[in-house]
Amino acid sequence: MVAVLKPGATKEQIENLTAWLEGRGLKVHISKGEFHTIIGLIGDTSKIDTELLGSLEMIESVKRISEPFKSSNRKFHPDDTIIEVGSLKIGGPHFQIIAGPCSVESPQQILAVAQSVLASGASILRGGAFKPRTSPYDFQGLHADGIGLLVDVKKQTGMPIITEIMNANHLPMFENVDIIQVGARNMQNFELLKALGQTSKPILLKRGLANTLQELLMSAEYIMAGGNHNVILCERGIRTFETYTRNTLDLSAVPMLRELSHLPVVVDPSHASGIARMVKPMAMAAAAAGAHGLMIEVHNDPVNALCDGAQSLTPEQFTDVAERVRKIREVIK
Ligand code: PEP
Ligand code: MN
Repeated sequence: MVAVLKPGATKEQIENLTAWLEGRGLKVHISKGEFHTIIGLIGDTSKIDTELLGSLEMIESVKRISEPFKSSNRKFHPDDTIIEVGSLKIGGPHFQIIAGPCSVESPQQILAVAQSVLASGASILRGGAFKPRTSPYDFQGLHADGIGLLVDVKKQTGMPIITEIMNANHLPMFENVDIIQVGARNMQNFELLKALGQTSKPILLKRGLANTLQELLMSAEYIMAGGNHNVILCERGIRTFETYTRNTLDLSAVPMLRELSHLPVVVDPSHASGIARMVKPMAMAAAAAGAHGLMIEVHNDPVNALCDGAQSLTPEQFTDVAERVRKIREVIK
């Protein structure tokens, strides 16, 4: 349920109303927009008398919300959420390109890739240190050493860093990480999501391989219910009957998520297609569809990459993609 307050509602009135609602066992989420303040009621609202609530002097209107996601719901929070990552912003009018290798492999590799993608327009560096591989015999990442190398490169280049977490017990290792990624395979690892809800770090939440948009939003809800509202949604392709591409990029997820939710939406065309030459058209299409950002895998030597070489762009290819995306963004402005 949401209650839209009249423009003149005072701080004291809002505090009194909050206390009254909390006294009825509800959690209250207050969103202050440019003109209106909206109060979202989370919990069992069945006992709230909407007519009574609507009759209060400070209330303009009251609406029951049928979707099970509340905190991530645009009806609670009409304005786009803008998330701060160091000095950068993502969401609303702010667009960022996250680029880097699938995995951090060596100090030379991660520094070389970071410097080249930074020069071509990427603003955030990615690199996996804990890799969720289908086979236990494949390279699993450099773990804490990998995060250490990312932090070193952050110091050298000034780029904020993003890397994937697979286990809540590893959280202390992520202290200097700017955005924590939850991979597709962990989208419904609810204990992990709850632990991330206790932090204040931006979380990039990837859509699971076979999950609906509502399930993605419910997972965002797990993080937000703990108090962390810094969630970035990521469409990274879903599994379909198509076999020419690694996954199928569900581009309609972008406008649909933007309609349903106020959270920023990023697209990962690399994991979605699995093929380097597909990344450029899909990145351009994602930008045209209204994504707030892209996550693209780039490697200085894709043929010898320890993970996901087939979908990794060379730095030169990335320069071209970033330029095309910049042009698309100009056109759709
Ligand atoms: C990744 O970004 O390296 C990754 C493993 O992605 P996903 O979880 O989307 O497969
Ligand atoms: Mn990868």
